[in-house]
Amino acid sequence: MAATKLEYIWLDGYKPTQSLRSKTKIEKDFSGNLEDLPLWSFDGSSTEQAPGGASDCLLKPVFMVKDPQRKDAYLVMCEVLNADGTPHESNGRATIEDDDNDFWFGFEQEYFLWNPETSKPLGFPASGYPRPQGPYYCSVGAANAFGRDIVEEHLDACLEAGLNVEGINAEVAAGQWEFQIFAKGAKEAGDQIWIGRYLMERIGEKYGVSVNWHCKPLGALDWNGSGMHANFSNSTLRDAGSKEIFDKICEGFRPVVKEHIAVYGADNHLRLTGKHETASIHDFSYGVSDRGASIRIPVMVPAKGWRGYLEDRRPNSAADPYKVAARIIKTVKAAEAG
Ligand code: ADP
Ligand code: MN
Ligand code: MN
Ligand code: MN
Ligand code: MN
Repeated sequence: MAATKLEYIWLDGYKPTQSLRSKTKIEKDFSGNLEDLPLWSFDGSSTEQAPGGASDCLLKPVFMVKDPQRKDAYLVMCEVLNADGTPHESNGRATIEDDDNDFWFGFEQEYFLWNPETSKPLGFPASGYPRPQGPYYCSVGAANAFGRDIVEEHLDACLEAGLNVEGINAEVAAGQWEFQIFAKGAKEAGDQIWIGRYLMERIGEKYGVSVNWHCKPLGALDWNGSGMHANFSNSTLRDAGSKEIFDKICEGFRPVVKEHIAVYGADNHLRLTGKHETASIHDFSYGVSDRGASIRIPVMVPAKGWRGYLEDRRPNSAADPYKVAARIIKTVKAAEAG
């Protein structure tokens, strides 16, 4: 009887930012099909998801990939359900009303590799600061790029798992990196990013390096924060053929700034200051090639006769991609209808 290791992964109940949790289930003679994975339960009183007296929450497998780091193993993304089978209030994935696969998402996940002993990014000396920003972005060499072994191992792991990772790069701050993942539909886009985050956390363990997903971990100092730019398109944008269509959809985001910021990650006011390639959290703007805008129209869109995608630059590194994608679908559809 073959034994398979199933890592059931879920999001806990911490507020305002949920963290990843997981535990291993051994199944004998697992078919390899998601549909054959059983529900499981966990102690919700240890994850801020249930009171001690009625602690059981349920895990419902919803997305599965090969676990690249273990023999005979899978990573299983789960939704959290209450004991009666209804979605738990912490279950953002279940709130996706319209999972339209005509919507494509490319998330650019930025993060800091973090020394848990000094509480500073890799590349920061134990006291004081490294040289100011400038040389680190897309850098090579031990003077500027810190933690590449971890980043490379993560890239290989994502590819082996079958995630649609599209690239990686060193970012503007020392110790800051990015990976990009592309997927169709809000649920799958979220599943892939969460599994990508999970692999990063677990690989970091091997190196004694943690991952800081906070959007402004170095505070108000002159260091970039971390975003999770949401690139998105639907058939309308991909086939538009006119500037008016892009303008109309961008304008659709203007009256719902609050609703978007509400799901674009905690503490985003610390990051969206109007400096460091961001727009102010209070403003709404869009423009071709404008990295200081809320929404950037990539330069190849007009070059291709107004066909392509948009980049909402406001979501931050700790945002829940399920909620970000769902909100974008809602706003674009309303703009199209209006
Ligand atoms: P940046 O110049 O902002 O750093 P990146 O190259 O890091 O851009 O990321 C661009 C992202 O846009 C990629 O993740 C890619 O998947 C995504 N993307 C490209 N075309 C589309 C499209 N038509 N719809 C949605 N996302 C797209
Ligand atoms: Mn136990
Ligand atoms: Mn990028
Ligand atoms: Mn970036
Ligand atoms: Mn970007």
